[in-house]
Amino acid sequence: MVRETKFYDVLGVSPDASESELKKSYRKLALKYHPDKNPEAGDKFKEISHAYEILSDPERRQMYDQYGEEGLNGGPGMGGMDAEDLFSQLFGGGFGGGRRGPSGPRRGKDMVHALKVSLEDLYNGKTSKLALQKNILCAKCEGKGGKEGAVQKCKSCHGQGVRLVTRQMGPMVQQMQVPCEACQATGEIIDEKDRCTSCRGKKVVHEKKILEVHIDKGMRDGQKVTFSGEGDQAPNIIPGDIIIVIDEKPHPHFKRQGDDLIFEAKIDLLTALAGGKFAIPHLDDRVLMVNILPGEAIKPNELKVIPNEGMPAYRTHTRGHLFVKFTIDFPAPNWTTPENIAQLENILPARPEIPTFGDKHVEDVVMADADAYQRSSRQGSNAAHMHDGYEDEDDHHGAGPGVQCAQQ
Ligand SMILES: [Zn+2]
Ligand SMILES: [Zn+2]
Repeated sequence: MVRETKFYDVLGVSPDASESELKKSYRKLALKYHPDKNPEAGDKFKEISHAYEILSDPERRQMYDQYGEEGLNGGPGMGGMDAEDLFSQLFGGGFGGGRRGPSGPRRGKDMVHALKVSLEDLYNGKTSKLALQKNILCAKCEGKGGKEGAVQKCKSCHGQGVRLVTRQMGPMVQQMQVPCEACQATGEIIDEKDRCTSCRGKKVVHEKKILEVHIDKGMRDGQKVTFSGEGDQAPNIIPGDIIIVIDEKPHPHFKRQGDDLIFEAKIDLLTALAGGKFAIPHLDDRVLMVNILPGEAIKPNELKVIPNEGMPAYRTHTRGHLFVKFTIDFPAPNWTTPENIAQLENILPARPEIPTFGDKHVEDVVMADADAYQRSSRQGSNAAHMHDGYEDEDDHHGAGPGVQCAQQ
């Protein structure tokens, strides 16, 4: 039990929240209430930051849990970090990658695109061309919307883009802001005849942009490639970035785990026991011919590795490993003559001895194929019965269903 939950409440988490839950919640709230984004929020941002500062430090969190806020006063290092410092420490700068003055130009939104990339391309590297639409400043009017002096301040809203309206709500008179209709909330009016013919006064035009995205060897799913300042252009804003997010396509033969690859190999029983070869078509133009040595005796689900045949690591290109997981294809029922089966007695290791059961009654039973039985119980409405059946099976360890019936 914790003494008080105030700091947890501020962050909207429960007192048993993990470090990553705390961080996630702080991140979300800090972005929401950051003064740059939400100037009306008052001290909310400071409160969130202070709570996170305490709770993200395991020692101070423990003090707080035990003694509450009181217990923190006078403790070591209580100076308290500046909320803004904490924010930049976590996000690498204020909004838009740097603090800006209140009068500085606004930064445009980043444009995020997912790019599907095959595992082959992530292995070998590739340059992908990506076509997308973006807004650029109109070249004809240089982003002014019309000829020199054509742009007039909107008279309805005095160039604010919004108008104040008063509304009677019962005994209260409320003032609220509504977007100005006369200027479509832009604060500007351009006379029809003065409007730029190319952008129709919108100051921006659509452009098709081809981006060359360099897929470097070893890039991972979710990794980002940033084109700085390539986002939408608009008058008086700094364009945001175009961010390409790598979306790794699933591969039919390989699974990727970091820089390692996993290949599921299906081999026959003879190859597993007596040796042989199987092929792994790799992600480049090579085929790895894998040799299983006679007597290696590969077991079902066994994991082996071909060292340094995994993915190249990003930047260093050091190769990960290629793990091979085996499925053994056993022969079909009645695959050979009784004489050949008898031969196996001479070939395979001897059977382990069957233990004796003292004076217990031993009954011989034969197994049936389970498929039919499972299907019929699943179709039946009495699911509880099926469950009971399994429990019984566990109780009589190793005995077949036939035995149960005989005993009940
Ligand atoms: Zn207006
Ligand atoms: Zn124009």
